Amino acid sequence: MQGVGFRPFVYREALKLGLSGFVTNTPDGVQVEAQGRAADLDRFVRILQESAPVRSIISRLSAVEIPVQEDGTFTIRHSRKSVHRRTLISPDIATCDHCIRELFDPQNRRYLYPFINCTECGPRYTIIQDIPYDRPRTTMSAFTMCPDCEREYRDPGDRRFHAQPNACPVCGPHVWLTDAEGNPVQTADPFSMALDFLEKDQILAVKGLGGFHLVCDAGSPEAVKRLRIRKNREEKPLAVMVKNVKVMQTFADADDHEIALLCSHERPIVLVKKKRPFSLAPNVAPDNGYIGVMLPYTPLHHLLFRGALAVLVMTSGNISEEPIAFENDEALNRLGTVADYFLMHNRDIFIRCDDSVSMFVHGAQRLVRRSRGMAPLPVFVPERKRQTLAVGGELKNTVAFAKKDRVYLSHYIGDLENAETMASFVQALTHFQKIMDIRPGCIVHDLHPEYLSTQWALQQENLIKIPVQHHFAHIVSCMAENRVLEPVIGLALDGTGYGTDGQIWGGEVLTADYTGYERMAHLDYRAMPGGSAAIRDPWRMALSCMHAWQKPDPSGLDAWIESLRTDLFRNIPDEHLRAAAMLIVRKINTPMTSSMGRLFDAVSFLCGCCEKSTYEGQPAMMLERLMPDRPELSGLDGYPDAFSMNPGENPVRIGFDGLIRMIVEDVLNRVPVSDISTRFHLSVADLFVDLCRSVFEKTGIRRVALSGGCFQNRFLLSRISSGLERRELTVLSHRHVPCNDAGLSLGQAVIGQWASPDG
Ligand code: ZN
Ligand code: ZN
Ligand code: FE
Repeated sequence: MQGVGFRPFVYREALKLGLSGFVTNTPDGVQVEAQGRAADLDRFVRILQESAPVRSIISRLSAVEIPVQEDGTFTIRHSRKSVHRRTLISPDIATCDHCIRELFDPQNRRYLYPFINCTECGPRYTIIQDIPYDRPRTTMSAFTMCPDCEREYRDPGDRRFHAQPNACPVCGPHVWLTDAEGNPVQTADPFSMALDFLEKDQILAVKGLGGFHLVCDAGSPEAVKRLRIRKNREEKPLAVMVKNVKVMQTFADADDHEIALLCSHERPIVLVKKKRPFSLAPNVAPDNGYIGVMLPYTPLHHLLFRGALAVLVMTSGNISEEPIAFENDEALNRLGTVADYFLMHNRDIFIRCDDSVSMFVHGAQRLVRRSRGMAPLPVFVPERKRQTLAVGGELKNTVAFAKKDRVYLSHYIGDLENAETMASFVQALTHFQKIMDIRPGCIVHDLHPEYLSTQWALQQENLIKIPVQHHFAHIVSCMAENRVLEPVIGLALDGTGYGTDGQIWGGEVLTADYTGYERMAHLDYRAMPGGSAAIRDPWRMALSCMHAWQKPDPSGLDAWIESLRTDLFRNIPDEHLRAAAMLIVRKINTPMTSSMGRLFDAVSFLCGCCEKSTYEGQPAMMLERLMPDRPELSGLDGYPDAFSMNPGENPVRIGFDGLIRMIVEDVLNRVPVSDISTRFHLSVADLFVDLCRSVFEKTGIRRVALSGGCFQNRFLLSRISSGLERRELTVLSHRHVPCNDAGLSLGQAVIGQWASPDG
């Protein structure tokens, strides 16, 4: 990989051992020629393997003996230009310990300099304009190095040898503070001033590595409230940045795995359990058992923690679901109504990149969002010849390029629902294709005709178009990252995905390989009165499930609605219920869905958790949160006979009227909702374990791939995984890409590769 300090590392180690020879980049990787005493050479090889820079990846190391050469010293040889097109581009790297030490050393010439970096840390992906990666092709080209920086940059023995973003207070970028109109705030120390403002409940827009963050005091409910109103973000949890792990432990319980994730060099946001009572402002993450926490990952962040505040809200600098702002003027324009002050700098961000989000579940890291610190690293998959471009889905969009055994996944682009995000999608795609040097032969898109990504794909000329069913892509995404070649049983539990019958799928059991799939079983269809309104209003799906179960006579609809209004639906206005019921009866604006996500919505409403969904997955998260910490120890079981099906049917339709009936009875009998939620989760998990086992018995396929957004539910993922393992099936789950729609493009790209018969 370029820009992680591998060649200087080799150089330094060779010098220490008194070896002669050289190190260089070749199309096949790094080549080292070393000459010296046999014992020293052995040690050298061992050091290369054991002490390589953290961000480098040695996928294979081989050594051969060659005749003694005329080398007098050890050198770093320049590589030819063509070489760079094959090496990996590094993600941005969190500030290393060396640099942090220098940052806070009053004797150092970079004391408190917010742009300190070295070959082992600093910006990479977000400042690269083109390849090969060197300074003139980054946004650092605007700055000319001073003699001191230049000397470091030229000295192979220095930590900053060829560190492209190398800079210092004399020659590099600087920080300033403005008000919301962009007028500079006069101060010698913008950081102290910014911290003052934060302590006074002001909202700051802070330019970071991949874009602007909106920042405020996480201990102040007033500041958080104001931020939410201005950002138009009602209830979705906000992430916080903490000074260090110790501070995090004052308000959250993280185990060793989670702490390791927090401190990993990717520095993602990690979802950790909130302590009770919770010492931060309650509106930071309302109605949620978890909170997203990250550690400082740029020198600028470290400098924000020199004041009294040790926990800061750090949320994407955008309004609602628009893309994160990353240019100075753009930020003032778009965030001028949100932030009171702007902490800006003049190192341009070339490509925006949101923070990655991660959690630890069932023995592994699970990504909710794979972006800063990880993009544009490839995911390694079984090798094919054809190069493909995959444009992803609609929500949580990412795009991907497949080339040989690598799929390059883009940073997180977002929900393709507005012009800004669509522009960002096209920009990301174009830039990505250029720096990856890929010429795709085909373009893969979702089956949904209305997705903007689909429409964009269909407009591209001279490329083969391959439409792919949503859940097939989810399952292949999981297969591919696990590098499995044999067929699998695919369990796709998801929110929304367009089916081949024109309905909305999402509770699917498939069998699949890279070339195709068969639908074995699915949740029975239920009406979605009002279409997308049924996603926003969970009561609509509850009404639909009640209607399917109770089958009221159309002439007695008024009486039926009256009966609902006496209890479960008492908060829903009469006319809304009536209108939705009419849609169901008349089948107007009412698609049918087999979605697991929609069943979660219905049950969440029936349990009284969630009347309105203000962000994707909210009703399901609120229902999950009701369960005790260890639901399997509650002594409760799933509901008996909750599901009905006819095994001879193809595909098998899974009826769940029994489940709805028992849940409604429990709610009306005032059974604690925590018990109802637990029994619901157990019922669903055990149902799908049984179904997979029966598909295995029918087909002999032993591997089960788990994918789809519902697997962000911790309990569902661990319960289904351990259930399948107990029934002697092999579980494949996501670790390198998200199980939600952000992982879709990986599956699409691989399906595109395999759609070509000659590879
Ligand atoms: Zn460093
Ligand atoms: Zn300098
Ligand atoms: Fe999906």
